[in-house]
Amino acid sequence: MSTPKILIIYTGGTIGMIKDQRTGELRSFNFEYIYDHVPELERFNFELKSISISKPIDSSEITLCHWTDLVEIIETNYANYNGFVILHGSDTMSFTASALSFMLQGLTKPIILTGSQLPIGTIRTDGKENLITAVEIAGARDENGEAIVQEVAVYFEYSLYRGNRCSKVSANQFEAFQSPNYPELAVAGVNIDFAKDRLFRTKSPQLTIQKKLSNRVGLVKLYPGIPIESYAQLFDYVKIKAIVLETFGAGNAPSDSSLQGLITHFISAGGIVLNVTQCSSGSVKQGAYVTSSFFERVGVISGKDMTTEAALTKMQYLLGRGFCATELKNQLQVSMVGEMS
Ligand code: ASP
Repeated sequence: MSTPKILIIYTGGTIGMIKDQRTGELRSFNFEYIYDHVPELERFNFELKSISISKPIDSSEITLCHWTDLVEIIETNYANYNGFVILHGSDTMSFTASALSFMLQGLTKPIILTGSQLPIGTIRTDGKENLITAVEIAGARDENGEAIVQEVAVYFEYSLYRGNRCSKVSANQFEAFQSPNYPELAVAGVNIDFAKDRLFRTKSPQLTIQKKLSNRVGLVKLYPGIPIESYAQLFDYVKIKAIVLETFGAGNAPSDSSLQGLITHFISAGGIVLNVTQCSSGSVKQGAYVTSSFFERVGVISGKDMTTEAALTKMQYLLGRGFCATELKNQLQVSMVGEMS
């Protein structure tokens, strides 16, 4: 087998940050900084190339344009590399991983996102292990020379997760991510143990790219006492075409006439409402309780066990593709890239 060729794409994040001596704040540093601190990379029997986005960012600054840029980098280099590692801040990594999983379909190569909680230059950094193992996973091939991972995944602190199934759960633990509704794709110990039966395989192995996303998507998280009238602007179909509603438990909401009025009006104007749960695990089951049967009656779509990140980016993707309402609703109810059970 030929030497695996891996492209490392640097976008910023703590992994490549240093402390500003004057203010004590962390800020992005030159990408070369990473190589200086991970000389182990040179010992891999891999051909490694790296590229940086023009202006590395804290991932809180990520926009839909950054996702389009990443897709373009992968599109340009797809034929020439066996795998891709994206270095990314952990704050919005699960959003980027979810978005890329929809924008890059038909993958037969791995796209592994990783980052760290401590900058790579600090003594106790988690960045080195994360980067080294992510590169190893991106280069892993089976006995037939096929990539073992053929999807967008997140590697963090010894676990590999499906990108559109995980969320950041800790601001300070090294184990910053979890994927409660779908088990790990791999666990790194002495060996990297891949759970082969959990890995996604596309039915049409031909890279299909969608660069356009729509930003006409709103997110409303319900809470006791929510002044729902002040959300009227968001439920305005002229400006917003779809709303992800984060509800309680198995998809429940208060039987509040203002909320129901806004939803009914929005849907009859052509808007789409997708119901996901605020719980980190489990699934929406509309109609299981009286407090969710209204949703069934008016045509709110169940997001089942999708994460909020997957629900939002799937909607941005589907609207970006310009699907008609019927097709869009159909697509929301099926798993496209392993994002729901
Ligand atoms: N604020 C940083 C970022 O998301 C945190 C991190 O990298 O973990 O870019």
